[in-house]
Formats: sequence, structure tokens, C-alpha cells
Amino acid sequence: MALFGFLVLLLVLVTSLRRVTSTQLRKPLGMGWALNGAGRRITLEKIEAERCPVCGGKMRYRNKVTQWIDHREPNGRKWRETLDQVPALICVRNPKHWAEIDPAEDAET
Ligand SMILES: [Zn+2]
Repeated sequence: MALFGFLVLLLVLVTSLRRVTSTQLRKPLGMGWALNGAGRRITLEKIEAERCPVCGGKMRYRNKVTQWIDHREPNGRKWRETLDQVPALICVRNPKHWAEIDPAEDAET
């Protein structure tokens, strides 16, 4: 059973990597790392934090939710549904300082 679980995990991983290479997109992983599928090869890249142009603070590369719906259920439980998100550089000092990163900029034809 453990082996089976591992295989499923591997399959999911390979499928998602395939998607990155076939679409040649850059995918934020968190902690400043990103997978880049440009040139149909997987590159693990460290996004060197640029300085925030507004306040000079560090910037982190991650997905930023740009559209969402706040739900509130009758029992008081609140949850947020994500409608749209974009990869972005976000200032750690003020999340309002952010710049969208075009994930398709490096594509080769
Ligand atoms: Zn800033």
C-alpha cells in the first residue's frame, strides 16, 4: 500500500511537471523558489528577491490572489473562495507593494 501511494504521488508530480514544460510557464513554489518550464526543460530557479521599488523592502515571489469571494455560512464559519491568482513579487513589508510577474515571458517557440 505504501508503494502504491508513492507511485500515485510520483504520477501527480510528473503530470504537473509535464504541464509546466508543455506550457513553458514559471510556477512559484514558495520560499523564493520557482519551477521554470522555459525551453521545455524544467529549471529550478531561486528568485533573487528584488528590492521593493516603493520602500526598499525585500520581495517574495508567490501566487497572489487577485479575485475572491468571502463566504459566510449560517453556522458562522467563514471561508474564502479563490477565483483568480497571478504569480507576483510581493513586498514583505507592505503587501500592497507588489508587481505581477508574467509567467509566460521566457517561452521559446
Ligand atoms: Zn514595499
